[in-house]
Amino acid sequence: MTGGRQNNAVLADEVAPNTALVDRFEAVFMANYGRPPIPLVRGAGCTVWDADGAAYLDLLAGIAVCSLGHAHPALVEAVTRQVGLLAHTSNLFANKPAIELAERLVSLLGGPRARVFLSNDGATANEAAIKVVLRARAPLRHFVAAERSFHGRTLGALALTGKPSIREPFGPSALEVTFVPYGDADALEAAVTTRTAGVFLEPILGESGVVAPPAGYLRQARQVCDRAGALLVLDEVQGGIGRTGRWFAYQHEDVVPDVVTLAKGLGGGLPVGACLAIGAAGQALRPGDHGSTFGGNPVCCAAALAVLDTIERDGLLAAATAVGRRLTEGLRDGRGPADGPHRLVTAVDGRGLWLGVGLSRPVAAAVVDVARRRGFLLNAPVPDRVRLAPPLILGVEDADRFLSAWPAILAEAEQARGAGR
Ligand SMILES: *Cc1c(COP(=O)(O)O)cnc(C)c1O
Repeated sequence: MTGGRQNNAVLADEVAPNTALVDRFEAVFMANYGRPPIPLVRGAGCTVWDADGAAYLDLLAGIAVCSLGHAHPALVEAVTRQVGLLAHTSNLFANKPAIELAERLVSLLGGPRARVFLSNDGATANEAAIKVVLRARAPLRHFVAAERSFHGRTLGALALTGKPSIREPFGPSALEVTFVPYGDADALEAAVTTRTAGVFLEPILGESGVVAPPAGYLRQARQVCDRAGALLVLDEVQGGIGRTGRWFAYQHEDVVPDVVTLAKGLGGGLPVGACLAIGAAGQALRPGDHGSTFGGNPVCCAAALAVLDTIERDGLLAAATAVGRRLTEGLRDGRGPADGPHRLVTAVDGRGLWLGVGLSRPVAAAVVDVARRRGFLLNAPVPDRVRLAPPLILGVEDADRFLSAWPAILAEAEQARGAGR
């Protein structure tokens, strides 16, 4: 009977709200994401709670998105004020938060004058960048990108993504793309010719588990592009806006790109992205070439301005550097300084609050699972790497709380794996 089923559903909701919600998720959404482990219902600072009421220290920030943590007063105030004033204008009219945000982003770049396109997310920031390159270098359509890179799921950004398993089912693309091993400047030099329109690179590979290139790689990429006349596009969607302790991850090297794309951390949880084109590249798009209904939405732009203001006012770039160092050292010493590093941990890579822990065996999923059951959110972008991308407001006490649990998490994950075989 229908009534009986409803009663059972209500009962399940009360007894096991987590399971009930995840079951409903699975029943209604397409299969692309798989079954999430838990639903989250609220957050404050660096803590989030699930529907059963369990608390977690959020060391992932919605994949490098919630730069100010959760329910930060500056973000709540800015969004609330703007939504009560004017929620949307379309791009047929100008709005002040969008203008201010574009001005701020241009000034953060420093150096040569840039022009801005505001998008909704990372993929659409990269789509804009692709069009900028195609216009600037017409009629060339050849791109060079890196193996293991990630630039988004829309068809243009996906064509430049160096993960065949997610790209190939949806090809072939209208773009001609050559993939080169990430971090190998000689391979890049060999692939880029005078026929190349643009080179797309992440300053650090995010979705492959926070893998940094050898020092000097971006500078060499700049030289290769200059020799061939190709545009250098740096995808800062994950690494930009303070994640590495600088506004942009490429600023750790002395290099000026032609195009920079941003998104994840920019809106602090609201969807906003940006494509910044420097110098001549900023003049490439012509009237009517591109657009977005929601891009430059005043509420999202107000959120981004609150994020930038707070990072500046609270010194979060320096904080990300300092707390990131502490985490890096602690993660390496899986058993504490006295016992030396845990045998599972091969390396800790990345910068600031963007860290990838390399594991000697493909047990990253087990590590993430154990960590979650002990109250810490991390993720495993690839089988042998664990990613941390906590809010930029992460404090030393919270970092230390995780570090004291880290050796036990590794040990338990190793045991769970051993028992499972
Ligand atoms: C996440 C990501 C994207 C895609 O961003 P979406 O907002 O998911 O479209 C693009 N590039 C990089 C480097 C990313 O990490």
